[in-house]
Amino acid sequence: MSADNEAGAMPGLMMRTPLLIRQIAERAEGLFAGRELVGVTAVGVERSTYGRVVERARALASALSELGIGRGDRVATFGWNSIRHLELYLAVPSMGAVLHTLNIRLFEDDLRYIVGHAEDRMIFLDASLAQVMPRFEGVEHEVLMPDAEATREGALDYEELISRGDRGFEFPELDEDSAAAICFTSGTTGRPKGVVYSHRSAVLHTLLVNQADTLGLREHDAVLPVVPMFHVNAWGIPYAAAMAGSKLVLPGPKLDPASLAQLIERERVTIAAGVPTIWQGIAQLQPAPSLRSVERIICGGSAAPESMIRLYDEQFGVPIVHAWGMTETSPLASVSRVPPGFGDGDEAYALRATQGRVVPLIDFRVDADSGGELEVRGPTVARSYFRDDSEAGKFTSDGWLRTGDVAEIAGDAFIKLVDRTKDLVKSGGEWISSVQLENEIMAHPDVLEAAVIAVADERWGERPCACVVRREGATLDDEGLRAFLADHVARWWIPEQIHFIVEVPKTSVGKFDKKVLRAQLAEGKL
Ligand code: ADP
Repeated sequence: MSADNEAGAMPGLMMRTPLLIRQIAERAEGLFAGRELVGVTAVGVERSTYGRVVERARALASALSELGIGRGDRVATFGWNSIRHLELYLAVPSMGAVLHTLNIRLFEDDLRYIVGHAEDRMIFLDASLAQVMPRFEGVEHEVLMPDAEATREGALDYEELISRGDRGFEFPELDEDSAAAICFTSGTTGRPKGVVYSHRSAVLHTLLVNQADTLGLREHDAVLPVVPMFHVNAWGIPYAAAMAGSKLVLPGPKLDPASLAQLIERERVTIAAGVPTIWQGIAQLQPAPSLRSVERIICGGSAAPESMIRLYDEQFGVPIVHAWGMTETSPLASVSRVPPGFGDGDEAYALRATQGRVVPLIDFRVDADSGGELEVRGPTVARSYFRDDSEAGKFTSDGWLRTGDVAEIAGDAFIKLVDRTKDLVKSGGEWISSVQLENEIMAHPDVLEAAVIAVADERWGERPCACVVRREGATLDDEGLRAFLADHVARWWIPEQIHFIVEVPKTSVGKFDKKVLRAQLAEGKL
């Protein structure tokens, strides 16, 4: 029984207009038409405005309708962070179709599975990726977006579609619960799984991204999402920027630290968002870049080490704001902001290095029975996967999502992730958090990166094995690292096996790929 049918309940008397992505587009068009958008491409820099982008999104939506794309049809993208990608973010859901952003870094086999599973009818691809993208069966149209000089046989031309379309096209009324976008998790376990966002969840997510104490985008901001638009909707930043009227700075394929640092300086970026690896890379640049315009960096996707948060404060005067989420949570689910009364000492740093407190509308709990797995629920959290029951166990019978992350609660409800359930090391019956140990190792000034994996051990069951990347020119050895750790962790946490490696292997979205490390270890290649 719904609440307003309950005996005695008094109905509220407010309008029930649906929450739709269309409203984000129309707001940007009506209020921020002249606000600038910048996109770097393989061959240059493009500039546009929200007014132009939404007008073109209307033309695109009308051209897609002419091609027979209708409600619920999946329209895929295979592209960098670009202005055209933003046009698709607005056009496709607003016309009632479903935007499916393909991760360009996935293996071909996974891509084929995903495109087939989602039943994509069309794919928009960047010309600079024309040589990379495979041909997919069942896809009726490919559309080439001209970010570089390249052709692709049989593909339609993006600009031609737009010029054919009706710029006055009206986006239709839709049910707010209908699908707006589909994203597949990057599949660190098993096959990729589809998460289907609704218009309602996308709009609510956009609102909660823009809380002052979450990511808080404003009109005067220039926002650089380094996080790809093909990975969990770039953490929702394109929609959040359009809702706030922020200038968007889209880096295209130029993602090396030096190009990003130049872009930040040239476009006076105030908020930049990306995984820790990006910020580690920028901090290494010689000479040190100027990040003077930057008011804060949003860092998530994997744990932001406390040492990096300190380094950015000390070296650049730029606060790193640590956030957590997953594809299943739209993704933003928690943000670490220090509450009043903590000052800026060690205690504040310790809190900032946690994953923080949940964003509005999200509930969380920690399941003690499963070793401390974090569970969440809320209107921006998936309740099942797209046509896939293999992971039904991810959802509890009382309606929570099992995150696969192991958490402790610090201070007042700060979530501190200590591991992923599958990465914990169980030594002598006690748990060792690989993440915590990595952070302690990375706090050594000679260490650039470290990943800890479990190795089988006759006596203890499992022991931690550390794979460590030294900073250039550093001479740290096993003994030196163990002596350092002895002051920071319990004795039984100190790894017997330490391998110095050139680089920690990364997944398609820049996270430590422990699967690869485990395989290398098993093959004696470390
Ligand atoms: P995948 O599971 O395929 O990597 P996601 O990109 O959705 O897919 O990643 C979600 C996971 O990334 C989380 O469950 C968590 O393990 C990790 N993660 C995200 N943000 C953080 C963070 N700030 N600290 C630690 N881990 C994080």
